[in-house]
Amino acid sequence: MPELPEVETIARVLRQHLLGQRLDGAPLEAISRHGKALLFDFSDAATGRERLVARLGMTGTLRLNATPDKHTQAVLQFERDTLVYSDIRKFGRLVWSTEPLHLGPDILAMPADQLAVKLAHRERAIKPLLLDQALAAGLGNIYVDECLFAARTHPLTPASRVDAKALSQAITRILEAAIAAGGSTISDFFDPLGRAGRYQEQHQVYGRQGEPCPNCGGLIVRLLVAQRGTHICPRCQPELC
Ligand SMILES: [Zn+2]
Repeated sequence: MPELPEVETIARVLRQHLLGQRLDGAPLEAISRHGKALLFDFSDAATGRERLVARLGMTGTLRLNATPDKHTQAVLQFERDTLVYSDIRKFGRLVWSTEPLHLGPDILAMPADQLAVKLAHRERAIKPLLLDQALAAGLGNIYVDECLFAARTHPLTPASRVDAKALSQAITRILEAAIAAGGSTISDFFDPLGRAGRYQEQHQVYGRQGEPCPNCGGLIVRLLVAQRGTHICPRCQPELC
């Protein structure tokens, strides 16, 4: 599913093509991202249609000038371009809403000391905590595994025992590199122009079970943490006891 780097990639492409174009008469003034949510802001107070919120769920896609198919849920006809929203599994949402998003702070905008406060005094394991969008928005299964490997942290480590500064640095570095590479394409992520991401070529542990760890040469293993497939190097990320 699209995580923060993929949604940021979508936002950057759509900004280049759609800003300033009108939809039903209202100019699109801004496209922003919070966690995995995309926000389209229009200047149209008269109709109440001011903000369109896109949550792509597992399989939602936004394509420019694509041909609608049986999975297409919405077609937004701008002045010069068409934005086609499709979703095979239908967990995504595209809604007009100015309601609060009920999301935690964006993880990429969160300073290390704020992350440290959120982790302090919590005994919950770090991986499910980082997946909790109410704590911090943006990370999903792929980037949590990559960030915990980079911070040499076992996914079951109680949050209060995690080195928040090291984790924060790993998160910033990995998310920025992933955005620069246009996100990760494992199976079905493509940007609005149909281009695949390239960050999967830099994955250190995600999907690499049975391969040698790029740091120590030991074997990467896959385990289940909070019902999610989880990839670690047991040597580089020992479980605390
Ligand atoms: Zn290792």
